[in-house]
Amino acid sequence: MSNIAESIAATRDRILRACLRAGRRPEEVRLIAVTKKVAVEKVAEASALGLVDFGENYVQEAKGKVEALGPGPTWHMIGHLQTNKAKHAARLFSYIHSIDRIALLSELERLGKPLDLLFEVNLSGEATKHGATEESLRGLLKEAATLRHVRPIGLMTMPPFDEDPEKSRPYFAALRELLSRVNKEFGMKMTELSMGMSADFEVAVEEGATMVRVGTAIFGERL
Ligand SMILES: *Cc1c(COP(=O)(O)O)cnc(C)c1O
Repeated sequence: MSNIAESIAATRDRILRACLRAGRRPEEVRLIAVTKKVAVEKVAEASALGLVDFGENYVQEAKGKVEALGPGPTWHMIGHLQTNKAKHAARLFSYIHSIDRIALLSELERLGKPLDLLFEVNLSGEATKHGATEESLRGLLKEAATLRHVRPIGLMTMPPFDEDPEKSRPYFAALRELLSRVNKEFGMKMTELSMGMSADFEVAVEEGATMVRVGTAIFGERL
């Protein structure tokens, strides 16, 4: 097996074990392979090995990979998205995980494509992080309720980096609780929790992640 094949198998196995510990079914968890700074040949190899979901942080970098891999893969925008790049992003991606302000939401709606959207929430209050506060999330959801093309499907978060994955657990649990709270408040049925990266995806799965965004554990350290 190639390195990538082994890493994918190992990652899937770790997701499976986390599911078993949490009494969840592995089909509930989508593995999104994060391809930022990864050469297109490696991404193509991962695709040939059966991965279907890929995540990118930058519109410009995604373009070449989306074109090279052709139809088949599903692309997820997971990085901060500038409003003036929304049009390009809507063409390249099916999912956008980083909705954090009304201007971006309105611009995506205006484009008229049925995009699946996740709202990025900054639960730690770190000033260096993007993402909506809990209060601005409510404003976003109120606005989303009036839109016809885009589809709000869930929440995304990124805890502060820590070597110890257990430090992420409270943030993951908080996102799960927030989803359930806002679903009730707004009469919505959002189901997706995009949380967990290479360092902490098993904890995220134990706390209910439906999408994990894994780069390094599949492709190795980024240059
Ligand atoms: C880079 C990145 C990831 C993947 O990080 P790894 O630690 O390499 O798994 C996940 N989510 C976001 C938003 C990222 O920017």
